[in-house]
Amino acid sequence: MKEMKDYYEILGVSRDASPEEIKKAFRRLALKYHPDRNPGNKEAEERFKEINEAYACLSDPVKRQQYDQFGTSTFAEGPGFGPFSSTFGDIFEDIFEDFFGVFGGRRAHRPQRGEDLRYNLTINLHEAAFGAEKIIEIPKTEPCADCAGTGSASRRPASCSNCRGTGQIRYQQGFFTISKTCPKCHGKGYVIGDPCKRCKGSGLITRRKAISIKIPAGVETGSKLRLRGEGELGQNGGPPGDLYVYITVEEHPLFKRDGNNIICEIPITFPQAVLGAEIEVPTLEGPAKLRIPPGTSSGTEFILKGKGIQRLHSHSRGNQIVRVYIEVPKKVTPRQRELIEELARLNNEEPQKTFMDKIKNLFSD
Ligand SMILES: [Zn+2]
Ligand SMILES: [Zn+2]
Repeated sequence: MKEMKDYYEILGVSRDASPEEIKKAFRRLALKYHPDRNPGNKEAEERFKEINEAYACLSDPVKRQQYDQFGTSTFAEGPGFGPFSSTFGDIFEDIFEDFFGVFGGRRAHRPQRGEDLRYNLTINLHEAAFGAEKIIEIPKTEPCADCAGTGSASRRPASCSNCRGTGQIRYQQGFFTISKTCPKCHGKGYVIGDPCKRCKGSGLITRRKAISIKIPAGVETGSKLRLRGEGELGQNGGPPGDLYVYITVEEHPLFKRDGNNIICEIPITFPQAVLGAEIEVPTLEGPAKLRIPPGTSSGTEFILKGKGIQRLHSHSRGNQIVRVYIEVPKKVTPRQRELIEELARLNNEEPQKTFMDKIKNLFSD
């Protein structure tokens, strides 16, 4: 058996409350327990249903009379209430339309989440590798401070005379109470006689807001950072949107990025390649020493462990890959030429010829 409900008690009004008092109590409670204001709160949801149920009954003179006459228990269980039950859904819709102002397609009073904002931010490879803190400026709409968001220069805007401040016009149509958004105040419930000079009556101003962003180490082009609540302001008490920062990492003149590794190509001389050498190579943290062993060919790769880019949300780092190539001088001095010619004589074989011989062997059988 369903638990019996006292609709007067639910709305917190006396048994002889006027329709205005009932409506006022309903609005106050409905706003308080509205699911949008109490996300995930089952108790509030239950209360909200009760409040609507109570109001659906008590706001209608005929139903209220039936309710008063037959009482809670008879009302819920008793026979002979066919018409009442069948119209219940319609009344519910009416109440919701009234509450949300959706009548005629308008949703003037429904809390709406603010728009998300997008900001494109370009950073350099060093910032991507180690993380950075950046200050960005974004245009934001906020309630006007001069008028506290009311849009009215005088402290309190005048209550709309057409709807007596409710924002809704209600009228009786047969059995039902129909409501629609007040055309004079467009559902706001007040009219502005002297608009605020700063916001021109809109109640909102746009200003540039500086926001500090912490960029985590390891981001790459296409990474998105979400700053909760830094988007546009919500409407009718709705939450603000979010700010999304889209990252672009600039190309670096020396380092190519490959995931969390970075690759750079370093020239070495022919003597360095032949004899070996200790050379200096650039890293993200400045110059570092690299030993080139004797007999190093062009294209040999050396790995500097942990000198790459930090993995996102981790402390480990990728590697730096140094690819060496032998730089052949365009011009040589007569003395250099002499020495190289002597070297060629000493070698007694041309590298190209040896290579061709190898290929011949490859195809001979
Ligand atoms: Zn203002
Ligand atoms: Zn009005």
